[in-house]
Amino acid sequence: MGTMRNKTKGNLIVISGPSGTGKGTVCQGLIKELTNLQLSISATSRKPRGTEQHGVDYYFLTREQFKSMITANQLLEWADVYGNYYGTPQQPVVDAVNRGVDVILEIDVQGALHVKSKYPDGVLIFLIPPSRAELARRLKNRGTDNSGDIEHRLQSAEREIKEIRKYDYLVINDDLGDAVKRICAIIIAERCRPRLFDMELFLQCY
Ligand code: 5GP
Repeated sequence: MGTMRNKTKGNLIVISGPSGTGKGTVCQGLIKELTNLQLSISATSRKPRGTEQHGVDYYFLTREQFKSMITANQLLEWADVYGNYYGTPQQPVVDAVNRGVDVILEIDVQGALHVKSKYPDGVLIFLIPPSRAELARRLKNRGTDNSGDIEHRLQSAEREIKEIRKYDYLVINDDLGDAVKRICAIIIAERCRPRLFDMELFLQCY
């Protein structure tokens, strides 16, 4: 289709939400459903959990390695979450967006708002479990954190929920398949915004 050929840039799609919301599983679902979409792999100073792999789930770095990425301006955004550093390596995101590929950033609220202030065209999606009780249940069932960590994450969730109004979309993760469908619809709709097209070229060819 001519319109698709004249689309020049990909979108930055930011997905946030309290930990335990199921962001990771939803993002895997999105990657299966849609083409022209890639997941950003964050850098972190936290230790790997369970089966997590370096270069797949995160780039696991020492605090010193992370700080040198900050100094070298290699991060699109970064934040201190639960006492660990988390950040988005910039170059892979820029390369994908310039090729017309959408990039999903699964990052916390501080990072999301930072992305929006730097790139107002970024699309912010907040994903949330159907209730507070369900959020607590999912965090406990995950079994990867100790009770102190869980309490800490629940408190962070309360703070994050207060920022929902700054997001472009709110998706309730009541059923995984439905949540994936709704986010696919958002991503597809966002691809149809005129700002993504080279309008000169589009109108010449139209
Ligand atoms: P977890 O340790 O459970 O993998 O992630 C903890 C929190 O850090 C989650 O809210 C997650 O979205 C956030 N996070 C992961 N990667 C990044 C990142 O690159 N930047 C920011 N700002 N937050 C991130």
